[in-house]
Amino acid sequence: MNADLVQDGRAQAASQAGRGSALLTLNAGSSSIKFALYDVDGLQRRATGMVEAIGGAARFKAKDAERKWDDAIEAPAHVSALRAILEWLERDMAGVGIAAIGHRVVHGGMLFDQPALINDDVLEQLRTLVPLAPLHQPHNLAGIEAAREAFGNVPQVACFDTAFHRAHPFLNDCFALPRELFYQGVRRYGFHGLSYEYIAQYLRTHFPHHARGRVLVAHLGNGASMCAMRDGRSIASTMGFSALDGLPMGTRCGQLDPGVLLYLMQLGMDVKDISKMLYERSGLLGLSDGISNDMRVLLSSERPEASEAIAYFVSRVRREIGGLAATLEGLDAIVFTGGIGENAAPVRERVLAGMAWIGVEIDEARNRANETIISSGLSRVLALRVCTDEECMIARHTLRTAQLVVASQEAL
Ligand code: AMP
Repeated sequence: MNADLVQDGRAQAASQAGRGSALLTLNAGSSSIKFALYDVDGLQRRATGMVEAIGGAARFKAKDAERKWDDAIEAPAHVSALRAILEWLERDMAGVGIAAIGHRVVHGGMLFDQPALINDDVLEQLRTLVPLAPLHQPHNLAGIEAAREAFGNVPQVACFDTAFHRAHPFLNDCFALPRELFYQGVRRYGFHGLSYEYIAQYLRTHFPHHARGRVLVAHLGNGASMCAMRDGRSIASTMGFSALDGLPMGTRCGQLDPGVLLYLMQLGMDVKDISKMLYERSGLLGLSDGISNDMRVLLSSERPEASEAIAYFVSRVRREIGGLAATLEGLDAIVFTGGIGENAAPVRERVLAGMAWIGVEIDEARNRANETIISSGLSRVLALRVCTDEECMIARHTLRTAQLVVASQEAL
């Protein structure tokens, strides 16, 4: 990362870090902000919540160990939603002081290979990446700008979904395009990195032997991708230059012949129309002919379009398992996570059916019971279902970044 950016950020954070007793994590989307509150000491989660329907009939929802909140609020924009969170902290969380705020940021481009302390220069760099993640990045940045306004000078840390993938070998990051485009940033970035990093740390703690080996993680949710890891590091991802590539998703197309785009342009569709179609009207929603982007709805539907959408999703996951296992030169463990990966036992069962050739044998009873280990005792490859926790990963990064700032200042 650019050393000047780090230096400026350090100076800003050093004057603030260490004053509060809690960390706040924020995940800002188009009309919602999810948040979680952690004790700095021990990183225990104190509370979670979200402001939803920002700009409409907004609601503030939160819960801690004993209490629940669900209130209608006035929140025409992200900054008013953040003020509601600030008021809640002061009113209902005993005025807990915020030591630092961690933000989920989908795209860190080529520059950011680790979390970054946010300052004006960092924000400017992140704005240049908006065209690469138009569905997410503008909202992540709106959340950061609003948090800077609502929380004054509390140090803020950007945690990137792309950073975990930044050490891929060249062959797993390039496209077969004129080489100068690679140097201009037209390359595979990979996403869902905070989720994969959490899973890598989980495996290191609970399955250390497998963590050192060849692991495939399938993050299957409304956004979906797969990551090949060796010794806990990402070496390849199904996601590419944007968050459209790879597996089909709730409303995103996944892998697509670029000739389709040329054809649609010849028909007169412009970038805006095509972008809207690929990001918002494709994937499970598009292929099911508009039934739903929600796997639960599709699983309970009797319409053939719903079954075909699920079948396509399953077949693409199976295809990527084969491809990524070849990249890894074998497989020691496969992990399912994300809303579908954690909860949709029928999808996991169909993905792993007939996979004995690659060494995976599912235990149907364990799978249906949503146990952690879902492979049979005879399976050479360990199959796991693990609940991911991106907020926890953001909190760990934020604490570490803030502590580094304080340590580096004390060393001066
Ligand atoms: P995420 O984006 O990780 O929150 O995942 C959202 C996806 O998980 C949606 O497609 C949901 O339908 C799916 N999902 C959540 N719970 C279940 C469940 N019990 N069975 C099937 N799919 C589920």
